[in-house]
Amino acid sequence: QTFLDRIAALNPALNAFITVDRDGALAQAAAADAARAAGAVGPLAGIPIAHKDIFCTEGVLTTCGSKILSNFVSPYDATVVARLKAAGTVMLGKTNCDEFAMGSTNEHSAYGAVKNPWDVSRVPGGSSGGSAAAVAARLAPAITGTDTGGSIRQPASLCGVTGLKPTYGAVSRWGMVAYASSLDQGGPFAKSAEDCAILLNAFAGFDEKDSTSAERETEDYTRLLAKAPADPAKPLAGVRLGVPKEYFGDGLAADVREAIEAAIREMEKLGAVRVEVSLPKTELAIPAYYVIAPAEASSNLSRFDGVRYGHRAAEYRDLMDMYCKSRAEGFGREVQRRIMVGTYVLSHGYYDAYYLQALKLRRLIAEDFKAALSQCDVLLGPASPTTAWPIGQMADDPVQMYLADIYTVAINLAGLPAMSIPCGFGAGGLPVGLQMIGNYFDEARMLEIAHRFQ
Ligand code: GLN
Repeated sequence: QTFLDRIAALNPALNAFITVDRDGALAQAAAADAARAAGAVGPLAGIPIAHKDIFCTEGVLTTCGSKILSNFVSPYDATVVARLKAAGTVMLGKTNCDEFAMGSTNEHSAYGAVKNPWDVSRVPGGSSGGSAAAVAARLAPAITGTDTGGSIRQPASLCGVTGLKPTYGAVSRWGMVAYASSLDQGGPFAKSAEDCAILLNAFAGFDEKDSTSAERETEDYTRLLAKAPADPAKPLAGVRLGVPKEYFGDGLAADVREAIEAAIREMEKLGAVRVEVSLPKTELAIPAYYVIAPAEASSNLSRFDGVRYGHRAAEYRDLMDMYCKSRAEGFGREVQRRIMVGTYVLSHGYYDAYYLQALKLRRLIAEDFKAALSQCDVLLGPASPTTAWPIGQMADDPVQMYLADIYTVAINLAGLPAMSIPCGFGAGGLPVGLQMIGNYFDEARMLEIAHRFQ
């Protein structure tokens, strides 16, 4: 009730939620109470959460921030949703996002822009901007998001919360509406690394319904958090922090650089060792990503045709006209742009020149990370080149918006786990996030380092 009241009071100014399921939440809370009385409760019983509106939720609207799904109610729960439900959480509602998770500002939502709680004239980041803003404004203690090219880490950074993108394959994509299937991963937003670890325990792990789900033994993401350090004054003793020089180049704002450098110095005081590393292919990540992600999106989004579900144009001449009108009316400008780019790079005559080249770059980028991570435990850098910028600044400048993804997209191309943790403030008191990049399926170690620092 407390969180529902807070949402009622603050959401009109923030627009972080698309749907609030008041009755459902109260019923689930009552069920959690009853379970507690019967002594049958897990670690998340009664904990209020919410989901990015890209996870299918049985009986509750799933819009993906799009007009084309403005009337879509899923007949089933995504695996992430089902597992959090089984753990006893209470779902407050669904959070706003860029349409089909395409964007870095949350201005590309058919349900309006989300406002950053630190300064409501600024963007919260995207595409999971509603989730990040809602956790920052304490509308829920934890919320899910998805990260295809930074959509968990970048809004976490701009809103001053902790957000984690797991290794590709660690979290089931079943029921998570696909943007770019080889890059998409679901993950948590919360106040701390510890809370993220607890959430991951509830929803990560093998799922036979997702063919790209990694078949591994169940991981306990909290397993390294409780261990007392040998020297309490040096909790990060022995930790090697890789600092890639390409992440501190010209494009990085001075206030963000200062906050990140101060955080690294603080970690050194706590016993960590700084290692200079290099990711020479960094500048190729944006072009590779903005070929591969739209290519996959153009294929994935072909299912929205107005036939079986979603928006259908009111008037049309024939079947082709119905497809065209329904899609033209239902998809926003940024989504249409991605479909056009994706279709272009996959078409005969351009496939070799663009898509195949991008796949080659993807492999080279992954090799960069392999070499860098062989010299350290985690890589450190910014998640965003600047703090939160004013709403409207990039709304009509897609290339400018794509370039802001410079520190995040390469990690998805490589499939590595990464997180953003709050590490200080830039000009005007706006939050700065420190990005940590770990090795494949080494989230527990990354969470341990983040926890000891936090
Ligand atoms: N900003 C990136 C894009 O628009 C990443 C989005 C995401 O991670 N979903 O594609």
